[in-house]
Amino acid sequence: MKRVLITGAAGFIGSHLCDRFLKEGYHVIGMDNLLTGSMKNIEHLFPDPHFEFHHHDITTYVHVSGDLDYILHFASPASPIDYLKMPIQTLKVGSLGTHHLLGLAKAKKSRILIASTSEVYGDPLIHPQVEEYWGNVNPIGPRGVYDEAKRFMEAITMAYHRYHNVEVRIIRIFNTYGPRMRTEDGRALPAFMAQALRGEGLTVYGDGSQTRSFCYVNDLVEGIYRLLHGDYSLPVNMGNPDEISIMQLAQEIMELVGNKDSFIDYRPLPVDDPKVRQPDISLAKKLFGWEPKVPRHEGLVHTLEYFKKELGK
Ligand code: UDP
Repeated sequence: MKRVLITGAAGFIGSHLCDRFLKEGYHVIGMDNLLTGSMKNIEHLFPDPHFEFHHHDITTYVHVSGDLDYILHFASPASPIDYLKMPIQTLKVGSLGTHHLLGLAKAKKSRILIASTSEVYGDPLIHPQVEEYWGNVNPIGPRGVYDEAKRFMEAITMAYHRYHNVEVRIIRIFNTYGPRMRTEDGRALPAFMAQALRGEGLTVYGDGSQTRSFCYVNDLVEGIYRLLHGDYSLPVNMGNPDEISIMQLAQEIMELVGNKDSFIDYRPLPVDDPKVRQPDISLAKKLFGWEPKVPRHEGLVHTLEYFKKELGK
């Protein structure tokens, strides 16, 4: 039985990865310090004898007994309000945490996949974003703690690959959504869903003309699975190229929820908020035949079911 370590296991994407790898017949070692993750995302896995969980902070050290075939590094605060609240932890998990895991991968001869982000492109000057683009990041702005941690993460991962021959995989994840996002994590999609369900105003920042492209989590997990088992060491974009404005997203969610009390509540645009974002996924298509399958309406319906239960609506 293959053994995989998943960091950030109690988080949004991490917990979906635990589900998938258990379903594929792996022994899954989940690790999380529960800074932003939640036990309720993984409590259904505890009866499974092939799942183990370690409540641990990987920025101190990482130890795993026995063999380890794969490491998936998904630990990090990932929403703007989280990394603004926890800037030092964000920098540490991307740098020290990644360093420890690369050391572990080297010692155990494991293949390691690290979760990078579209934020490495910053407020992009080319559109859509291709992997060759180096980005437009403000290192000392409020988002710099996340963006630069992830850029460092890519750099040290490639250094371990080139210098120590560690087998590496790097995914640049664009906006992803689905069940197990936190209503209070401040991201647009869960915020709008919770606000619409409660009949509150939907907090659109700026004039809502900034764009994002939203990928349903199951599509992303499929992409991660293929990338891990593929044979390509440089960064690969994964996300859904279907780009919409934040205002359009707010309107779609209001319509879907159908709460007549909702309205658009305009708020100031945060500092360094990227104006556009859309992945060019030609590389993932070419390498793995991967592209997202779940249309936004369908994904929003599944996600809404989750938030309805969460909020008791
Ligand atoms: N946003 C918004 N209202 C909110 C939260 C976010 O209008 O309540 C905007 C945010 O300024 C950004 C976009 O929605 O332009 C996506 O933000 P999110 O935090 O979801 O992710 P990002 O892509 O910025 O990391």
